[in-house]
Amino acid sequence: MQREGVTDQLKRPIRDLRISVIDRCNFRCPYCMPEEIYGDQFEFIKKDQWLTPDQILKLGRAFNSLGVRKFRITGGEPLLRKDVFEIIQKLKSIDGIEDIALTTNGMYLSRSLDKLKLSGLDRITVSLDSINEDTFKYMSGGKGDLTKVLEGVYDAIDHGFAPIKLNVVIKKNINDMEVLNFIDCFKGAPVILRFIEYMDVGNLNQWNHSEVVTSKIILDTINKEWQAKPLESNYVGEVASRYLIEDINMEIGFISSISNPFCGDCHRARITADGKFYTCLFANRGHNLAGLIKSDVDEKELINHISSLWKARNDRYSETRDIKIKFPTEKVEMFHMGG
Ligand code: SAM
Ligand code: SF4
Ligand code: SF4
Repeated sequence: MQREGVTDQLKRPIRDLRISVIDRCNFRCPYCMPEEIYGDQFEFIKKDQWLTPDQILKLGRAFNSLGVRKFRITGGEPLLRKDVFEIIQKLKSIDGIEDIALTTNGMYLSRSLDKLKLSGLDRITVSLDSINEDTFKYMSGGKGDLTKVLEGVYDAIDHGFAPIKLNVVIKKNINDMEVLNFIDCFKGAPVILRFIEYMDVGNLNQWNHSEVVTSKIILDTINKEWQAKPLESNYVGEVASRYLIEDINMEIGFISSISNPFCGDCHRARITADGKFYTCLFANRGHNLAGLIKSDVDEKELINHISSLWKARNDRYSETRDIKIKFPTEKVEMFHMGG
């Protein structure tokens, strides 16, 4: 049942679904899952509550009928889920899906690439916050191995996934001094660096505005050595502003949720591993779709329900945030919803 044109209160269509397939992770990045909070005792979603590949397919079909054309598989760390390949393969079978991407911390990427290719995955984004071994260790909560992640990036290129997007979350006095090193390290390689402003997602990372380095500051730093020229967006609602460093033919991007919010074109919906639907990254409440997904009621009921939730949507958190209020609302955590 194709039902084009579902729009929300601010006339935004639904185009993009981010599916978190797991909330567990092998890293403990301090800005996402600080170790002191997410220790051995922390209760993640129980495995028997995870949506199965068939349930995710049902959900994917429902969202597709409302206008979704792209899926992003995320987590937690999606490559920790053994059936992630089956999930991708099933989503790929849906007519009208143009693109399936995966966001990963890269630790298990090399060993997963053959199966990811076979599953029909189109694109890979790797999170890589530092190219200095010590800083990388720190930024991954002591869990990451830089050499292994870099191997994953280059193996992914060899498997035909180029260009690989590299997400770099910049935190002041931690990795902001590495911006030019990143460019030197990857010049000539088919990668797109995307510098991300540290965001106030969740409630537990002790976010503080003073630790944010704005995209403008990063761009100014780059322009001291190179000349980065703005590029047109690839499509309406693209999250990153794109630039080209012509001298080395390198594309870079900036995700400026703090300094230049992009709610006006936000076409993204998010779903958690246990089937909760969020209409905003900063939402404090999810809509539980698990019952409808798991029951054998007609798919139309699920579609109608999602449609009515999207039509009621009026989120624009980033445009209205007040940084003076420390924790304005209870928000869902990033690892739970997948970024
Ligand atoms: N574990 C995978 C990974 O790290 O790529 C996928 C999930 S992770 C939650 C998705 C993205 O969210 C990562 O690129 C991560 O850097 C980003 N992220 C997490 N917390 C963030 C924060 N507070 N500010 C900005 N980006 C954040
Ligand atoms: Fe794990 Fe990704 Fe969060 Fe880091 S950002 S803790 S890798 S989910
Ligand atoms: Fe979209 Fe919410 Fe982010 Fe605005 S704050 S861009 S509505 S996810």
